[in-house]
Amino acid sequence: MSATPARFPSLDYPRELNLLEQVHTALGSAARLEDFYIITCSMLVDPNTFGFSRAFLLRFDERSHTYTGKIALGSATRQEHERNREELAQEDQRIRELVEEIQRQSPEPVAVQQLLDLRYHGLWIQALQGRQDGENLDEAFRQVTLDAQQLPGNHLISRTAASPHALLMPAGECNIEGLPSFIECPLVSGRLVTKRGLHAIVIADRKFEATPLSGENLVHFQWLLNHAAVTLDNVELVSELTRTTERLKEVDRMKTNFLSIVSHELRTPLTSIIGFVHLLTEGRVGDLTPPQADLLKRVSHHSSHLQNMVNDLLEIAEVEAGGMINVTLKPVDPLSVVLQVLPKLELRRSMKKVEVQPVVEQAIPQVKADATALDRTLFHLLDNALKFSKPGGRVTITFNTEGSNLHIAVNDEGIGIPDAELKRIFEHFYQVDFRLERAFGGMGIGLTVVRLLLEATGGHITVKSAPGKGSSFILTYPVAENSAP
Ligand code: ADP
Repeated sequence: MSATPARFPSLDYPRELNLLEQVHTALGSAARLEDFYIITCSMLVDPNTFGFSRAFLLRFDERSHTYTGKIALGSATRQEHERNREELAQEDQRIRELVEEIQRQSPEPVAVQQLLDLRYHGLWIQALQGRQDGENLDEAFRQVTLDAQQLPGNHLISRTAASPHALLMPAGECNIEGLPSFIECPLVSGRLVTKRGLHAIVIADRKFEATPLSGENLVHFQWLLNHAAVTLDNVELVSELTRTTERLKEVDRMKTNFLSIVSHELRTPLTSIIGFVHLLTEGRVGDLTPPQADLLKRVSHHSSHLQNMVNDLLEIAEVEAGGMINVTLKPVDPLSVVLQVLPKLELRRSMKKVEVQPVVEQAIPQVKADATALDRTLFHLLDNALKFSKPGGRVTITFNTEGSNLHIAVNDEGIGIPDAELKRIFEHFYQVDFRLERAFGGMGIGLTVVRLLLEATGGHITVKSAPGKGSSFILTYPVAENSAP
């Protein structure tokens, strides 16, 4: 690949910003540590802001106690800027027009401003790095590694790390052993400290400027470091957050994978168990005594329940991996689906002695839904209503037509759900009571399946609940066209 010829953009910051705003805008635009280092060093060597000639940044690693050369930037000399003045002016004009054009179209001028600053920096650094003469930028600097514990106390780096203020090191007075030869005193050096501790040492000089380093330069240098340190806290936070998010995504992918493998592995033997139990209960293998028949009925009930859970898990894993739930939307009679679901919950209902009642006060229209999905949705809502009811309690299923929609509500008088938890109960594996010794069983996936099924079929759910008084889960489906009640 042929190298792009170096191009020098304008080093002018937009005039409407004062120095403080320029620093904030430029530093604030850094989202990664690398950008932050580049921007900090670029600002230092920018003849229009701080006017140093070269800036070096040594990153401190707290685990290995070493300093490593991270970035070294040098500004172009004044003469060089003169030479490129014409090209600069053209580039400057082009960028301004571009930004004005974006600003005309975008309601967010601040964002554009940051883009503009980054672009200035980006182009400028590219230009510096594209230089062949090596006068201003020494690649070797990047490979510097210094062991903090081996450095003598009078070393430039040790003295800087120990000093709360930036230092002005006159020629001949500083120990720069181990640093690349292009680092020469006089120079200014200071530390970047974040909430976590020492982050880096920054060094700058005025090698290519006619006027030597002064106390004023030191004040400006310290001022920039102070602002940079504040920004660094944010950048570190964002980087940490990005890393954590990536890790969590990976863990989540592994969990989905695991779920899908386990569910597949469980499904096969379960299918055999259910098949064999069926053969037995049908009397195909011989006659059964009444106690045997009763026990097998229970085995059949529990294995079907297990099979439903495994299918739910598998479905969640599949949707998470980008799959879709297959549904066919047709006119469905909701009351007959309710009546179909109730027998599946009879064992739980009778053990808790809860009364379950569909309340039919008006003609119930057919809805546009998937019959199997509606069956599974109602199953989970009724299962929860029974589970969280008090023994001897009451569960009702009510129907209410409103415009072109039908609301189907599953109401209980059970433990209820605190307001703050309502948003989270549809997340997978979420349970209001997480303790292993909690009173109610379940895996925390019923409402996730309900949410996925509704997303696939176009229905909608709302929850009203009061702790200690009970909950209503209200499903809303569009009434089917030409629906005969
Ligand atoms: P599971 O019921 O298996 O724990 P779900 O996804 O069906 O999982 O429900 C998630 C959580 O929402 C439950 O653990 C419970 O804390 C709460 N919840 C759901 N339905 C009700 C209800 N009818 N009454 C009280 N809490 C409920």
